[in-house]
Amino acid sequence: MIITDYISTLADNPYFGAGFGLFGVGFGAALLRKSYQTSLILFRRHYMITLEVPCRDKSYQWLLQWMTYKGAKQTQHLSVETSFEQKDSGHVKTKYDFIPSIGTHFFRYGRSWIKVERTREQHTLDLHMGTPWETVELTAFGRNKQMFFEILEEARQMALERHEGKTIMYTALGSEWRPLGHPRRKRPISSVILDTGISDKIMDDCQEFISTPSWYIDRGIPYRRGYLLYGPPGCGKSSYITALAGELGFSICVLNLSERSLSDDRLNHLLSVAPQQSIILLEDIDAAFTSREDTAQQKAAFEGMNRVTFSGLLNCLDGVASTEARILFMTTNYIDRLDPALIRPGRVDLQEYIGWCSRDQIEKMYLRFYDGENAMSESRVFSDKVMSFQTDISPAQIQGYFMLHKHSDPKDVLDNCEMICKMRKKG
Ligand code: ADP
Repeated sequence: MIITDYISTLADNPYFGAGFGLFGVGFGAALLRKSYQTSLILFRRHYMITLEVPCRDKSYQWLLQWMTYKGAKQTQHLSVETSFEQKDSGHVKTKYDFIPSIGTHFFRYGRSWIKVERTREQHTLDLHMGTPWETVELTAFGRNKQMFFEILEEARQMALERHEGKTIMYTALGSEWRPLGHPRRKRPISSVILDTGISDKIMDDCQEFISTPSWYIDRGIPYRRGYLLYGPPGCGKSSYITALAGELGFSICVLNLSERSLSDDRLNHLLSVAPQQSIILLEDIDAAFTSREDTAQQKAAFEGMNRVTFSGLLNCLDGVASTEARILFMTTNYIDRLDPALIRPGRVDLQEYIGWCSRDQIEKMYLRFYDGENAMSESRVFSDKVMSFQTDISPAQIQGYFMLHKHSDPKDVLDNCEMICKMRKKG
């Protein structure tokens, strides 16, 4: 009885009524907000798809380029990436690549609208590159995840097309491989004229190796093959490897072992993360180490000059393994300076001498540069003359001479042959 009286008194109290009403409104608003958030989460979870691509991922740059190309062009907010492309003629062209700027963009893909959010973390760094950490997030309505796969695949294809007919050269930057300049136009293998049969021999060996992965896997042998090209400078070792990479559709990762900041661990890491379908090229390998046969004085001169140790390199070479074909080329001008342990089978499976010009090479080079109606007989006269000098001539010297006589008539070319001996050995 007393309690009901008390409640009716409270109900009559205007302050209490207003307070209770306010509480009700607040509670209702909180409830609404909570249910709005929950339904948004549920909606996002069940009716929206998102794809997050961090900047460390390979497809990150492809995706940004693709979005700009596809539709984000309509967006008013772009970032620019300026690069310089050197043409084969030596002419340098400036290129501007526009990519969506940091922020939110929308574009249409098929019948769906896609929201793109490109974000940059101010406080997180990509430790490898020392640049701020970035991500791109794509959001779309629906449940069709396939759409994202298609987008990634299109972006990849577009990036590949830009590189079609080109050879990408990589260089080591920190613990990563970074493209060195712009992809170069593939060098035709026929433009590198080696002595009879050598080019075909190396090419056949590589192709046989690439086409027989199961042979290695079944026998538990690391799927790698090492090649050594040795011989005097200017005879086509590097040019041949570049042309071979183009022919195989591989890129080239060039490593300089004398680099001071290259430690055993870094070398090991770099070899294990080299891009797939690439040739690893260790140039002038003799310059990096002393040989066991070197004098104590020569060894002392090398002491402390670089940080890759010889045993470290051997371990790295033995450890190079990949499910993809791993091709490793080494070049040297002085094979006798190499430690036998470095070039034993298993580390170097095929070695070829790339030497001074033979008669056959001289004739072929002549025919590549001049194609008049008497070119065949001229090439023979030319090779007779060059051979009569009885001195070692490199293809680089011949090339240099031909470049000086680009527009000369054949008579001039044949009459001034002595000049070849004065050309620098390496072109
Ligand atoms: P290496 O690596 O043996 O020192 P390069 O491949 O760097 O020689 O050659 C230097 C230059 O000489 C290049 O411009 C290349 O075109 C030319 N050259 C060398 N050898 C050949 C060859 N066998 N056939 C055609 N050009 C050659």
